Amino acid sequence: MIDNLLQLNKVFIQPLLHESEITLDILRLDVINETVSGNKWFKLKYYLQEAVQKRYATIATFGGYFSNHIVATAYMCNALGLKSIGIIRGERPKILSHTLQNASKYGMQLIFMPRDKYKKKADIIESFTNENWYWINEGGYGELGVKGAAEIFNWIDNSYSHIIATAGTGTMLAGLITAAKEHQQIIGVNVMKGNEALENEIYFLLPEKDKNKKFILLNKYHFGGYAKCPNILIEFMNDIWNKYHLPTDFVYSAKSIYAALDLMKEKYFYGGSKILVIHCGGLQGNNSLPKNILQF
Ligand SMILES: *Cc1c(COP(=O)(O)O)cnc(C)c1O
Repeated sequence: MIDNLLQLNKVFIQPLLHESEITLDILRLDVINETVSGNKWFKLKYYLQEAVQKRYATIATFGGYFSNHIVATAYMCNALGLKSIGIIRGERPKILSHTLQNASKYGMQLIFMPRDKYKKKADIIESFTNENWYWINEGGYGELGVKGAAEIFNWIDNSYSHIIATAGTGTMLAGLITAAKEHQQIIGVNVMKGNEALENEIYFLLPEKDKNKKFILLNKYHFGGYAKCPNILIEFMNDIWNKYHLPTDFVYSAKSIYAALDLMKEKYFYGGSKILVIHCGGLQGNNSLPKNILQF
């Protein structure tokens, strides 16, 4: 049932480059839905299914002003006829971000939480204990998120030797690691600066059978940190748009494509490598940028 709410049949692989025996393709999960970024849909799927099965009427989750996860949850709940609650990090701003306006439009009730309180998620959940809400972790972090993300591999065949994707909470990456074949290397691009805990958080998410699987986490492509947007990143995004007609978002997908091209430049890949970068969407986040700086 949930599968039919979005247009999964739109997903396609866009060939990007073929250079000295190395191929680079992009898996376009961004085309599934304007509001629900590809990876968010996969990560939410099994939580929502469980909530419906257990007959919950209301879903509650966490996120920031520009969170793809928040707006995706609002959209999916609306489509499934569920109520949704968003616990939002920070005070209520005078003007709601585009993301939060959309979340409200899909019926999400926003509860703003000062930053110090927001950190203590267990206390927040405790304070709403009288409500019969189904809670989903920030970013869909957790076992069911991993299970859903593993299904991204339905679009990835064995011919790919390297799969590159960004990591925020690392839930998607953990799913990709569980689904990868032995000859396939999973490379994560950490979008946060100085978040050394991420590697352990990913390891923690892996089921016992996959804990010995190797993956690589690159920490140098954060461009100043989470949601920072220096000019070189904007220039890169415009460049990729002009050359390949590929739209990217500045928080995630632009960084993974930049990293892939940089690794190619550094001759990281052996001849015959077939590389796939996963484009998880997130394009709605570009609405927070000044108008007209992006050419798409
Ligand atoms: C949320 C998101 C990610 C990060 O996913 P995690 O599972 O939290 O690591 C990557 N790309 C996009 C576009 C996202 O919205």
